[in-house]
Amino acid sequence: MRLMDLQVELERWLMHAGPNRIAQPEALATPLTAPGPLDLFEAPLVGVASAADPLWGRLRAPDVVGPHHLPPDAWVPGARSVVAFFLPFTARVREANRVPTETATEWLYGRYEGGFLVEAMAEALAAHLRASGWRALVPVTDPRYAVQAMRANWSERHAAYIAGLGTFSLSRSLITRAGSAGRIGSVVTDAPLPHTPRLYETLDAYCGRCGACIPRCPAAAITEAGKEHGPCKVWQDGTLARHQPRYGCGKCQTRTPCEHRIPVRR
Ligand code: SF4
Ligand code: SF4
Repeated sequence: MRLMDLQVELERWLMHAGPNRIAQPEALATPLTAPGPLDLFEAPLVGVASAADPLWGRLRAPDVVGPHHLPPDAWVPGARSVVAFFLPFTARVREANRVPTETATEWLYGRYEGGFLVEAMAEALAAHLRASGWRALVPVTDPRYAVQAMRANWSERHAAYIAGLGTFSLSRSLITRAGSAGRIGSVVTDAPLPHTPRLYETLDAYCGRCGACIPRCPAAAITEAGKEHGPCKVWQDGTLARHQPRYGCGKCQTRTPCEHRIPVRR
């Protein structure tokens, strides 16, 4: 199975996925920026990491994710590959969230309904691999998936980094060639897929360190030293209280040079 086959499979699924279109969005937090149906995501970027990549071991260091992070072969015995995909939000979702402070209605749909879509897409990919005779599993929907002190035992952002999809930003999201405003999914499998190269050598190679995300953060969680997860979580919990069951912020991923591309270094 080639990378192109996975790409085609995921694009085909997204094109026919009912959940990618909110037929009748309602103004939840901010006025809708346009009438009519709301499409959440553009076509995905897809990468494949080797399950034997030494970086998986690095994730178990306390200053990265932690010793509770499980490597690919703990999810699927004999794992050979990890497929990661990045779904960029559509221009309408991104641009709506360029307003300050309050989470845009469109972003709330992208974060909440979009979250279910990403899981469904990963499950569809795993089913596709299983139908071809391989074992495949989605860690974030597995009963063993757990979060300790705001750190999960499977990090999809790190999986995407190892799979060559992009690097970390000052605000700790992932900057891909389609920017940082989007969602990540991943599947572990024993299929011997071709692994994609990493076109970077450092964790933050794609971040321009311009600082534009710092004043965008309504929780003052971002400084030139990075992001503090505590204030971010408190802010996001506040959005949940206001917009149950939806939540989200994403101000640091919108109206920034890395919103929809790799920013040019100064
Ligand atoms: S706005 Fe600038 S500093 Fe912040 S994550 Fe994007 S590129 Fe990096
Ligand atoms: S998601 Fe919102 S609160 Fe969290 S760091 Fe980004 S801008 Fe700040």
